Amino acid sequence: MGTRTGTVGLRTALAAFAVLMHIWSGSPATADTVATATRAELTGDTNRTTFQLDLTAGVTAEIFTLANPYRVIVDLPDVTFRLPDGTGQGGSGLVRAFRYGLFAERKARVVLDTTGPVRIERAAMTAAPKGNGIVFTFDMVTTAPESFGMGTGAGKAEPSPTPPADESKALAKPKRSGKAIIMIDPGHGGIDGGATGASNVLEKNVVLAVGKELGRQLATTGRYDVRMTRASDVFISLDQRLNMSLTQGVDLFISLHADSLPEQNIAQTIRGATIYTLSERASDEQARRMAEKENASDLVAGLSSADSRGDDEVKSILIDLMKRETANFSTDFSNTLVHKMKRATTLSRDPQRAAAFKVLKQTHAPSVLIELGYLSNLEDEKLLNSPEWHKKVASSITAAVDSYFTKRTAGSPAP
Ligand code: ZN
Repeated sequence: MGTRTGTVGLRTALAAFAVLMHIWSGSPATADTVATATRAELTGDTNRTTFQLDLTAGVTAEIFTLANPYRVIVDLPDVTFRLPDGTGQGGSGLVRAFRYGLFAERKARVVLDTTGPVRIERAAMTAAPKGNGIVFTFDMVTTAPESFGMGTGAGKAEPSPTPPADESKALAKPKRSGKAIIMIDPGHGGIDGGATGASNVLEKNVVLAVGKELGRQLATTGRYDVRMTRASDVFISLDQRLNMSLTQGVDLFISLHADSLPEQNIAQTIRGATIYTLSERASDEQARRMAEKENASDLVAGLSSADSRGDDEVKSILIDLMKRETANFSTDFSNTLVHKMKRATTLSRDPQRAAAFKVLKQTHAPSVLIELGYLSNLEDEKLLNSPEWHKKVASSITAAVDSYFTKRTAGSPAP
């Protein structure tokens, strides 16, 4: 007997400090407990909505809320999700939708988008009716914005907090090898799935597959020192990505993404790859929306806006401080990419655009963000899911990298 149930910590922040409340229900879970979530369900109405998660074993859970936008965050270390496809896409009651996945190494998370401010009640881990695992439940009830707002983001310690990028660090870092360092940045990951295709293909998986293939091809040339911001299905914040690029003193930063359009009427006509460079002012409305979507990654993963530098800061990008040279190199590389990629795949109608992408806010290295295609387009989705196409497109990007560095080397003054 003695079913292992686990603990639930309810975090509510009061002004500047946080109160962590533990609800005990049986014996505590040990640190090495690994549980699988097999089913998630929302019941109730817009006054009280119950979230239920079936687990194979008890774990320690921690619940807290965030505003702007209103969210409920549930941290569940060592939980693996085996939930049916599409789970969380449709909301119910006070929950618009929810998502789940790894937030950091061995740190699983569920993020519920709520329709407004809510308060958590009756959080518990109890033995399932027939002794089949554990049922983790909590209720969400509506609350006034005034009482909710106090809990916003206070006291939440994120794993390995990332200080803002410090330009001086890059300058101090000597290069270890004579090779150019190329950082590949597959977007999203873990709890942040990115865009979803018509048949549930996830952007985070597509860009990781292309990123790994690109890494393999670049390494094979023997000319580059290849780094990845992530090589598995884990969430990495935008600040962490920027910091990796800076502290590792990269020479070229390539962020990989795939887009999706919500408008059904144009989804089947709009397709193809687009290459974005950094600009304070967006080249067009679509590029602006694109950057807004990608910059929201940290919010999707349940970081509070205070944890990451917000849109305002992106807008006040230090364009004047940004070395003109870096910007010119980014444009050069974008030109080369268009030239090489058009031989391998379809490009969008306007394949070179610019917007205020936070991940491109780098003054030490030229950087581009490649939207490989549209998951909302059936033809593109098929390609984005094809290992053959991954090879082809990675090979065109490799050719562009080669051509870019050849040109730069040739252009540099003789020693
Ligand atoms: Zn993306």
